[in-house]
Amino acid sequence: MKYALLDRGDRLSRELSEQFQTQAKARGLIYDEEAPDTVVSIGGDGTMLQAFHRYKELLDRVAFIGIHTGHLGFYADWQKNELVELLDLMASSEPRNIHYPLLHVDIVTTEGKETHLVLNEFTLKSGDGTLVSAIHINDEPFEMFRGDGIVISTPTGSTGYNKSLGGAVIHPSLEALQIAEIASINNRVYRTLGSSVILPKHHHCDIVPPDPGEELIIGVDHMLMALTGVRSITCRVAEKKVTFARYRPFTFWNRVREAFIGSV
Ligand code: NAP
Repeated sequence: MKYALLDRGDRLSRELSEQFQTQAKARGLIYDEEAPDTVVSIGGDGTMLQAFHRYKELLDRVAFIGIHTGHLGFYADWQKNELVELLDLMASSEPRNIHYPLLHVDIVTTEGKETHLVLNEFTLKSGDGTLVSAIHINDEPFEMFRGDGIVISTPTGSTGYNKSLGGAVIHPSLEALQIAEIASINNRVYRTLGSSVILPKHHHCDIVPPDPGEELIIGVDHMLMALTGVRSITCRVAEKKVTFARYRPFTFWNRVREAFIGSV
């Protein structure tokens, strides 16, 4: 097995990363930053987002594993005291690979088109106060949004920003995207649905700002960027999926319970 490793950069994650490399070498695992077949993230779910974007060009051939140096995460579901167990399994057995849906975003600007692959969510806010944008679903006008912003998430991202906005938690076996509103203005003049909307794989949505001259702030997972000249943004479930290597069962609903509810 050839693996790459990315850690959060704090002392504990760095120490664990060093231990991992020493013990991996002793078990015959090869460190290969350029062409790994397994990418190990040590830190938190945020670290996994960074690992994903670093290796997203290799999605067809890599599987990700996350070790959490704090509490259990959604992508980082091994804990720091389980390092030896994980390494033994990596050295001696084949994992069950599971595949999770991603979001594909095309942004058409006055300069051309840019495309993003998203693991958690795509966010859109105005660079200057209230965001105004038309939302179309499958090329039909759906609503005129006015408010703080829009978050479009993947099923695994549904437990992140989306959940804080009152969006539903979606099981990642469902190939879907979810549109959630951030503080929409709803009165006699402006009207949105007010609840989040879940689209299946064969549907898409377009966000069309009325003025391409306006500065927008777009978020692709943990990365924020300012963009002007935006004509339209199209979001759909991506053709590609991300693969996670599972060496033991840990169901999605157990992860949700552990993260948000605790013992019952
Ligand atoms: P951050 O602001 O440092 O951390 C945000 C928190 O979200 C961390 O506790 C992180 O877990 C957790 N998280 C990330 N992905 C998650 C997921 N799929 N399900 C449940 N929790 C998740 O930012 P960051 O570490 O760079 O992560 C960026 C993410 O933060 C975004 O993709 C977005 O989902 C989330 N976010 C949430 C809000 C909100 O809830 N109001 C606002 C902005 C962004 P770890 O501690 O394990 O890393």
